[in-house]
Amino acid sequence: MTTTLDPLTALQQPGEGQCARKGCTRRAWRWGKSYCQPHARALGVAHHRVDAAPIRAHVQACIDGGANMQGIADDTGASYTSVYKLMTGTSTTLRRATADKIMRATPEMTGLVPILGTRRRLRAWRAAGWTTHEIQAVTGIPAWTVQEIVSDQCRMSTISRARHQTVAAAFTAETMQIRRAPDPRIARRGWPLPAEWEDPDDPAEDPAIERVAYARDPRPALDQMVSHYGDRAAAGRRIGIHQDTILAILGDTGREVRPEVRQKIARHYIELYGAAS
Ligand SMILES: [Zn+2]
Repeated sequence: MTTTLDPLTALQQPGEGQCARKGCTRRAWRWGKSYCQPHARALGVAHHRVDAAPIRAHVQACIDGGANMQGIADDTGASYTSVYKLMTGTSTTLRRATADKIMRATPEMTGLVPILGTRRRLRAWRAAGWTTHEIQAVTGIPAWTVQEIVSDQCRMSTISRARHQTVAAAFTAETMQIRRAPDPRIARRGWPLPAEWEDPDDPAEDPAIERVAYARDPRPALDQMVSHYGDRAAAGRRIGIHQDTILAILGDTGREVRPEVRQKIARHYIELYGAAS
């Protein structure tokens, strides 16, 4: 038995009185509901309380090394409340099961995850015509922070796991719909639309479909759709642009294509060939 060597039990205090088990002369264990420790364990009535001090010291060392309470809760499976109460409360003991989880804490448990997936989702909503305030309404992220996250100048490389999860949870089939044509400045960015993403958190994801749809040169996508529909007039009706526009784009290599037209071509291409179609 290693019980006496276990730091989690080393500081357990004995209770008053004798074990309630008939014939047992051991003292009742403080957490054993009037039974001695072996009998409480055997009967399954032990609370398995352990001393909080070494657990608290371990967590504090992790926090000093960069972890935070939310990260520790997330990564150890302990509840945030348990960690919070341990670190801010005055209790001298905690449940062994909780202590076992919390003792898995490491300094790396920062509660932060890469911002990539969040940025992709926010950009996708913007590309689908959402305003920053509409994004705030479904994610709780302040509009100005949304603005910052989608920006190329954004220096953030991580985000809290809680925020990441909120955004991911809000990124549903319902919110993947295009709301309206985006601001031309947004449209020009060519950010993928929500429905284009299979897994926005996967750094390797780069579907060929979106590369074609949002290619600098819209002609390959347009060409493909004209072939698909049979002629320019039919394609133009479906895409929502005039067939003369199609003719002009396909016939002129250096032509500047208006953002709204590009967006229509990209959207329709995705509708036609994308994963969501
Ligand atoms: Zn006993």
